[in-house]
Amino acid sequence: MNRFEKIKNAVMCELILVLSILIIFTYQNIGNDSQSNSKHSSKEKKVETMAVQINSKQNTNDIEDNDETTDLLTVELNQILKNKSLKESGEANNQNKSDSEDDKDKKEEKSYIKWVEFNVNCAALEDAYNYDVQSVINNEDVRLNWIELLAYLGARNGGNFSKYKKKDMETLVDKLKSKEVDMSSLTKDMKYYNYYYEAYSAVLSGLVGEYEVETTDENNAEQKLWVKKYGLKAFSPIAKFYDYNDYDDFGVSRSYGYKRNHLGHDMMGQVGTPIVAVESGYVEALGWNQYGGWRIGIRSFDKKRYYYYAHLRKNFPYNKSLTVGSVVQAGDVIGYLGRTGYSRKENTNNIDTSHLHFGLQLIFDESQKEGINEIWVDCYSLTKFLYRNRCETKKDLETKEYFRVYQFKDPAAEKYLEQIKNANN
Ligand SMILES: [Zn+2]
Repeated sequence: MNRFEKIKNAVMCELILVLSILIIFTYQNIGNDSQSNSKHSSKEKKVETMAVQINSKQNTNDIEDNDETTDLLTVELNQILKNKSLKESGEANNQNKSDSEDDKDKKEEKSYIKWVEFNVNCAALEDAYNYDVQSVINNEDVRLNWIELLAYLGARNGGNFSKYKKKDMETLVDKLKSKEVDMSSLTKDMKYYNYYYEAYSAVLSGLVGEYEVETTDENNAEQKLWVKKYGLKAFSPIAKFYDYNDYDDFGVSRSYGYKRNHLGHDMMGQVGTPIVAVESGYVEALGWNQYGGWRIGIRSFDKKRYYYYAHLRKNFPYNKSLTVGSVVQAGDVIGYLGRTGYSRKENTNNIDTSHLHFGLQLIFDESQKEGINEIWVDCYSLTKFLYRNRCETKKDLETKEYFRVYQFKDPAAEKYLEQIKNANN
């Protein structure tokens, strides 16, 4: 071997070595990619399987009301649905008008909110509410809307109010009051403001507004007067002067029937405690349900909220005048606290601790009323906030029924009754 050949061989060896390293490196990368792909698709498959399981479970249980039915909705599934809905609500806003009619139908189907988590805490609700009411009753130049204030903060903190500080809202309010900016210019580049505004509107829009209420005449205690007001027109579900205790129990597991999560808020109190309608609406469901026992479901007039009051008293669960379709005003006594439920047999007391199960479902599209697409929100902070407005009741000794002491007129109910009247004429 001459010198030239030696050099040639050495170069060839090095080339082969470099090539081998390159090949091994590329192969490893491909391996990693395919691994993560299969991991991802198996995760999706798991979620799909879970959805099918939930669906079939609901069918086999033949649950009339779908209360507390959504099984195994793990954080994982919730998160995926949430991300999906955020993405879709964004996509829906960017619809291209030149799309074909078929595509349009498909996209319209997606253009409503699919998932909401309501984690606004009571302090934020109170601050936003106070700013709103003050701006109206003081007739301030800049009208503040509590839902807008909360949606702005929600869009900034991703809907997580656990670190909420009064100062955050104060800063926002000062900016708006200075008139340097208004809400639309402030939020025009915020990606999720519209989502939070719509989601929080669905939860809160029936709670604050104008209303008329009876009060006692200062000069004559026997006389009652009607006064027009602006403010909180929703009530705590537990009547005034009745004790209850509660804690944030949304999402904790329940085991009657099958393993599932608690999709409501329990308020422990004495059997017979008058239960009042939180918001005005019409009775959509009334009767026995194996989970909720004697229960009433009331839909808001805008159809976005379904209020669910369950485990009502054995033998005398509801106000006797109520039937499906009845219109109730916020604060009307609708039923009585009890411990019925957890039985297929009607009128059975199978709940250990007497309590009201209070649930709030959001409905952006009727397809979300029943099934795997149901959205139930945590109403712990909401009931805490509503504590400031409790309805005074009195007993009719003859009928043993309770009634509100001060009558109340919700313009939303008046409007709805007017529409029904016109439709029947
Ligand atoms: Zn419950």
